[in-house]
Amino acid sequence: MEFPFPYLTSGFDGDYRVKKDLMDILACPICKGDLVLNVVEENEEEVISGTLYCPVCKEHYPIDEGIPNLLPPDMRN
Ligand SMILES: [Zn+2]
Repeated sequence: MEFPFPYLTSGFDGDYRVKKDLMDILACPICKGDLVLNVVEENEEEVISGTLYCPVCKEHYPIDEGIPNLLPPDMRN
């Protein structure tokens, strides 16, 4: 089986179902491009905290308490 997420090599525990679902849904709010997931904290089911990075916009979007914050940076305040 081919590993579909080369950017998830760190912390990969053999179960990426929720992460895969998450990444299928999420896109950069600015350019609608793919986001790169960087996991800081996770459990068996979901990513608790981390960041989503858009390499096109060079913008980081935080994941806090399992909820990704995809507001554009100038709308976060
Ligand atoms: Zn973008």
